[in-house]
This record gives sequence, structure tokens and C-alpha cells, in this order.
Amino acid sequence: MKTSFYQYSLSELEDLFLKNDLNSSGPQLLYGWHYRKKKKDPCIVDLSKDSQKFLSDHFYFDLPEVSKVHESNDKTVKFLFKLKDNKTVETVLIPFLDKYTICLSTQVGCGMNCSFCFTGTQGLTRNLSTDEIVGQFLEVFRWLKNARPTDSKILNVVFMGQGEPLHNFDAVKKACEIFLCKYGISLASLRITISTAGYLPGLKRWKDEMPGVNLALSLHSPFSEIRDKLIPINKRYPLSEVLDYIDTIPLKRKQFITYEYLIIKDLNDSTEDAHATGKLLKGKQALLNLIPFNPFPGSQYQRPEEEKVEQFKNILKSYNLPAMVRTTKGDDILAACGQLNTKESKLPSQNITRT
Ligand code: SAH
Repeated sequence: MKTSFYQYSLSELEDLFLKNDLNSSGPQLLYGWHYRKKKKDPCIVDLSKDSQKFLSDHFYFDLPEVSKVHESNDKTVKFLFKLKDNKTVETVLIPFLDKYTICLSTQVGCGMNCSFCFTGTQGLTRNLSTDEIVGQFLEVFRWLKNARPTDSKILNVVFMGQGEPLHNFDAVKKACEIFLCKYGISLASLRITISTAGYLPGLKRWKDEMPGVNLALSLHSPFSEIRDKLIPINKRYPLSEVLDYIDTIPLKRKQFITYEYLIIKDLNDSTEDAHATGKLLKGKQALLNLIPFNPFPGSQYQRPEEEKVEQFKNILKSYNLPAMVRTTKGDDILAACGQLNTKESKLPSQNITRT
């Protein structure tokens, strides 16, 4: 049976070439071709005939298919990807000056069931494979190059789309290895951020296995009664245990743990919430990302008032914690944080002609 080329890290490909007595320069050439030059066509001139035959016998090069594209007024773009089994996931391209951050999905749906998240209402269908994760990047890159050739640089990768990345640890880890590989896409490790709801079984593998990328924790409340309500896995993996583990992760100079704090009107936006959060994180190598709640069809919560968000930020600053408010981008096309849901989003879209 054939497997996807995009499942293989460079070292796995090297092992495979070695086992099959193929020219050892092949894997690096292939990485240069498919990931650096981002070519789709599998034939490459410089590869030996044996290697080419091996590839066509054992690999396929298909990627998830872009089936819809929604472009927001603020230049945010949301892509609907159709997978081999006809399941769908969404990927978002977020503009920042003349460059972009790409927000990748890691699962079809999500099993964490957070009460404020549109994806959570969908339940978990399945994990994405490495090639389905890497494929989102490659296809979005190609779209960008075609549609916006003058500003086609993807600078950051964030695992903040649909799914809980640490619940799909192996595929996410390998996708990171592929993004980082210097013969291919060659992203710097500090350009990649993985966000978790605090899924401790996955998190506990971080120190030994994850290749130096940034970690973000969805905190949302310092109080367990509120966090239980927002992120149900908090009952099983309490915040104190999650924070204790995170404190043991070695960080590079200028590397931070990002703590995301979703601010919901009258639920976790008071001065008491802000002071308790400040006390909890004071002294840590932390960056606070404040996210005003983005509503979605049928959501039970409301967006906080701007003054409350500002007040929250200033209280955190008084604990010497750098805090930023994440501006909402793409909410007109349901592409903002927590608005991804492939079951129910029915927006007018442009059809894609594939090249
Ligand atoms: N499962 C991971 C990554 C996906 S969510 C996690 O929980 O971190 C990415 C970020 O968007 C998280 O911080 C999440 O809490 C936030 N988010 C989810 N729903 C949201 C909503 N409706 N409004 C604003 N942010 C939301």
C-alpha cells in the first residue's frame, strides 16, 4: 500500500532510503523540491532512476483539497479543506503588516468540549495525519502566492485552529519537525506556537519530545470553579498540575510561555479575576494574550466591554506581566478564535479553480 510522502520526517526518509539501498542524497533533494521550492509534481530531475521508481511505487503526493475560500475585509482568509474521507477542516491565514500567520487545525472537530468554543460543539471525529497538517500549510502557501503575489510570506505557524494539538501529539510533533527542517521550509522554532487547553497526558511529553517550539496555555480563569465550567478537562487535569509541569519546561532566552485568557462579560472579567491571574503568574517567563470572547451562532456568552479589557490588561501589567489584547480578525467570515466549525458554517464563498 502506498503512503503519503508528506508523512515522513527527514530522518525517517533517510532510514527508508538506506534500507532500500537508494542514493543517500535523495531525501535532502526531495525536501528541497517539495518543501523549499514547494513543487507539487513528484518527478524531480536530479533524483536517480531507482529512487524515482521507489517513490512512484511506494508514495503518493496528494494533499488535502482547498474546497472553499472566504476572504475577510481585513485580509484574513479562511480555507475549507476537504480530506480524503470527505471530512472537512478549516485553516486561517491572518495578516500582520505585509506578512501572515497561518492557524492550523489538528483534528476534525475537538474532544475538549470547551463551553465557549464553536468547534467544541462539533465533537471529535478523528485526528489529522501529519500530511493533512503539513498539507494545510503547503496549499495555503500556494494559494497565497497565486492570489497575493506581492505579500506572500508566511512568517508564523500557530496550532490554534480546530482540535487539541496535544491530543494528537505524534502527528503534530512530526509536522513541527517538517516545518523546522533546514532543507525544506526551514522555519525558526520560535516562529511556531502550539496552544493547549491543558491536556496533561500530551503536555507531559513536551520536554522530552517537542523540538523547542513555543507553548501557549488556554488559562481563561485562575479559579477552578470557573475554569471547570469553561474547560471541562480542568476537572481531570487541574490547572495547578498543568502549571507545575509547565514551570519545569526549559526556555530559551527571549522565549516565553503564552497564557491565553479569554475574557467573557460578567464571567471572568472582574478586577478580582485580573488580580488573581496576576498573582498566579507573577515571576514566570510569561506573556499574557487577552482574547475578548468572539460570539458564534448559538453561543451562551457575551463579549466584554472594551474598558473592562483595558482594565484587565493594566492590572496584569502592575504584576510585571506583559499583556496584549488579541485583536479580532476575520470575524465577518467566522474565522476569529473559536469560530471555526465545519459542520455549520454556511457563508457565501468563492469557488476554487485548482491550478
Ligand atoms: N485546543 C487548543 C487550541 C485551539 S483554540 C486550545 O484550547 O488552546 C485556540 C484559542 O482560541 C484558545 O485559546 C481558545 O481558548 C480560544 N477560543 C476558543 N473559542 C473562542 C471564542 N469563542 N472566542 C475567543 N477565543 C476563543
